[in-house]
Parts: sequence; structure tokens; C-alpha cells
Amino acid sequence: MATKKPSKPQQARPAAKPAAKPAPVKAAPKPAKPLKEQPKAKPPVVAPVAKPIAKPAAKPVPAPAPVVAAAKPAAVKTAAPVAAAPKSAAPKPVPIRRQSNGAIKVAIVGCAGRMGQMLLKLLINAPGVVVVGGTERRGSPAMGQDLGALAGIEPLGISVTEDASLLFETADVVVDFTNPSATVMHSGLAAKFGCAHVVGTTGLDADQLAAIGRSAQRAAIVLAANMSLGVNLLQQVVEEVARILDPEWDIEIVEMHHRHKVDAPSGTALALGEAAARGRNVSLRRVARRSRDGQIGPRQRGEIGFSALRGGDVVGDHTVIFAADGERVEITHKASSREIFARGAVKAVLWAAGKKAGLYNMRDVLGFSVTNPGGNGNNGNGGGNGS
Ligand code: NAD
Repeated sequence: MATKKPSKPQQARPAAKPAAKPAPVKAAPKPAKPLKEQPKAKPPVVAPVAKPIAKPAAKPVPAPAPVVAAAKPAAVKTAAPVAAAPKSAAPKPVPIRRQSNGAIKVAIVGCAGRMGQMLLKLLINAPGVVVVGGTERRGSPAMGQDLGALAGIEPLGISVTEDASLLFETADVVVDFTNPSATVMHSGLAAKFGCAHVVGTTGLDADQLAAIGRSAQRAAIVLAANMSLGVNLLQQVVEEVARILDPEWDIEIVEMHHRHKVDAPSGTALALGEAAARGRNVSLRRVARRSRDGQIGPRQRGEIGFSALRGGDVVGDHTVIFAADGERVEITHKASSREIFARGAVKAVLWAAGKKAGLYNMRDVLGFSVTNPGGNGNNGNGGGNGS
């Protein structure tokens, strides 16, 4: 396993609660040393937060660590400039990175996506965490935007870049809700730099899952098709119910998602299928029925069927149906806000920081007991992985 350098300097975190609007630059506390005196240190991913400018703490943040240059903020092409920042108060970086104060340095790849923006907001406000950077795909309109503005809060003085490599080198944990090919590339970087990688991306195929598995030999990777507490609890319940009920009970899994979702069945549906298969001690691959159309004949005993509905803005509904002659048990989870996934991802970030290399899932993060006597080797992430 590649080990991270624990002595890597830490970005300064504001000691005071920031005011809504940054005050003029002239009010900013002076950096401890002028930039030209800086030792040649690896440039940080970010220009540190401008928050302390507005309301300096009673005790200004000490700067024991060398003052280093920010990552070329002037060179960043601002596709969509940060509207919230008045020109005179353009996020002048307070170019300080200090020794680790224990805060976890987190970066977000795909930070302008639906999940990325929500994660930004939660992570910027999370105690014990400091956001050090965010990337987007080349050509994204978010390129160069300020991360804080992207999250709908005050500017952070950190711009969106496309340099994932620098993020993985600098951060303790990188959170990834992008797409399968990007995630595989990112997991390679996680392995290269020994950086923990929290992956929520769905729709990964077998080869992509295998590639992530290889990366997990060198980095801690948390991979979960669904990071909500409720769905992970549902998986436990489904596994238990499937264990109790004999195969005369037909298992069908129905999911519905918003019209933008690109993969089907959802990774959560597949993860629920895996849970049911674990309960029955069978391989999902052998019993899964992922589509039905035309003259397909009667249902096979022991099948686990999947149905995917798409429409509107449904965040994610999943029902596992156990159907027997004369009775039916249905277990449902309905997500009404993406925040449940983002909250789970924040838990995963806190948990993954400093973990040894390995492939983990949300049950590891949430501390659910693993009930898999004579199990079939599934890790509960679902063959296709998708929320
Ligand atoms: P989205 O399309 O809104 O966001 C994806 C973002 O990734 C986009 O902004 C895109 O530009 C960016 N991106 C693509 N390639 C990139 C690259 N190479 N580098 C950096 N950024 C890149 O999608 P979304 O709704 O936020 O979902 C993202 C993924 O997360 C999907 O696979 C989705 O199914 C999954 N998801 C998982 C959970 C969970 O709990 N695990 C919950 C919700 C969504």
C-alpha cells in the first residue's frame, strides 16, 4: 500500500464564523511572510479560503508552516466568473498552509454535478473537514468557477480545475460522483498517491469494478451504489427476509428514478438483489432476470426479477416484493432528497480518512453487522452499481 505523507501541510481553516459577504481585501490579515520568501514547496491545489477576511478571529490563525504560492489562481480561465464576489474583493488567497491540525483534506471530482454541488455544500460546512479542491470534465461551464459560489455559498477562493492528479496527490480523501470511465481513471490516481477514494458513481461494469478492485490494493476505496442509511438498512432487512423465506416466495425488485438517469436497473436495485441472493445463498448472476418482453414463458422458480421505471424528478424509489400464494411482503424505501446520499458520503469521507488499503462498502462505514454465513462473496455493491 502506498502510504500518504502525514506531514503534508494543511490548508488554513478559518477560526471565525464567516460573514455572508467578504469584506474588502484591505481588511485581510497579512500573510505571515511575503510570497517571495516562500520556500519551494509543492503548490497547494487551492487558494485558501477568504472567509477570515471579513471578520478576523480574536486570535489570528497562526502560520507556523511555510507560506506557499496558491495554484496559479490568475491563470485559471474563469468560464463563468463568480458573481457573488465584488471585483475589489476578488478572492485574494490567504496563502497559508499550516501543519496538520487534524482536519481531513477533502476534494470533490465532478464537483459541479447534482451530487457534487450538494457534497460541496455539506463538506464545506462539515466540522473536521477542509475542502481543498474540485474538478470537472474538460469543457465544463463550471471550469474556473469558485467552489463556494458553485455550492451557493460565499466564495472559497478555490477554483474548479481539471487536474484530478493534483487533487489525489494533495487530499486525504477524494469523493467521486462522476461516471464509470472517469471513476476508473480516478481510482488509478487513488492507488498511485495512496489517497482514500469514496465512490458513489453507478453503472460500473464488471471490468470497471475489477479495475477499482485492483486500485483498492493500494488505496482505501469505499464503493457504494447507494450511500443512504435507509437503503443500507434495507439491504440488511432484505437479506434477512430472503434467508427466512423459502424459494417458493418469488422475489421482484422494482425501482423508479428521474428521467435523467442513464443506467438500469439502478445499482441500488442490483445491490438489493445481491442482498436477497446472499440471504438465499445463491449467485445473483445465475438467478437475475433483468428484462421481460414478449412470449417469455412462466416465471422460473428462484428467479430474482428487476423492473426499472423512469420519469419526472423521482430521486429514487425501491421496493423489494416477496410474493407467495395468498400473500405478499413488500419492503420499500423512498428517497425524497439527494441529501441523504451526500450525508452518507460525508460519513464515508470521515470514516475512510487514514484507512488502510482495501475495498469497502457502506455497511463497513455504518458499522452494520455482516450476516453472511456461508456467503457467496458478494460485497453488496451490486454488479452494475447504480443509485
Ligand atoms: P451529474 O451528471 O449531475 O454529475 C456528474 C458530474 O461529473 C458532471 O458535472 C460531469 O461534468 C462530471 N464529470 C464527468 N466526467 C468527469 C471527469 N473526468 N472529471 C471530473 N468531472 C467529471 O450526475 P449526478 O446525479 O451527480 O450523479 C453522478 C453519479 O453518482 C451517477 O453515476 C449517479 O448514478 C450516482 N449517484 C450515486 C448515489 C449514491 O448514493 N451512490 C446517489 C446519487 C447519484
